Amino acid sequence: MFSFLKGKRMYSILNSKCPRCHEGDFHVSKHAYQLKDFGENHENCSVCGLKYEKEPGFFYGAMYVSYALTVAFSVAIGVAIFVLFPASSYKVYLTSILIGLVVLFPLSYRLSRIIWMNFFYHYQGDALPKPQKEE
Ligand SMILES: [Zn+2]
Repeated sequence: MFSFLKGKRMYSILNSKCPRCHEGDFHVSKHAYQLKDFGENHENCSVCGLKYEKEPGFFYGAMYVSYALTVAFSVAIGVAIFVLFPASSYKVYLTSILIGLVVLFPLSYRLSRIIWMNFFYHYQGDALPKPQKEE
């Protein structure tokens, strides 16, 4: 999916792929709403071997990204309610935003980690050694 973005950070973020090679999976589960293990990621890239958690506590920094995503989701939900139901009370806004944030939490959690990773690594797909195919 989004193969025209290969080589760009957005490809890694949208497809949950390794930020360095854009081939190996970052998350264990394919979808954000497999609630059993939606937040788990592999320790290393299966293709290029990149260690995802470069130091202990590395992913604590993803909280800053998560905060920004939460604000963006809240504003988007608020604008949608303003446009669709202009005469709503503040209770409708608060309830809708709260429910929306709970529903979007798995997506936000996953996105914040992969976006955080992409701050520190960039695509090196052509510079990496090609994996040997076994015959
Ligand atoms: Zn990789």
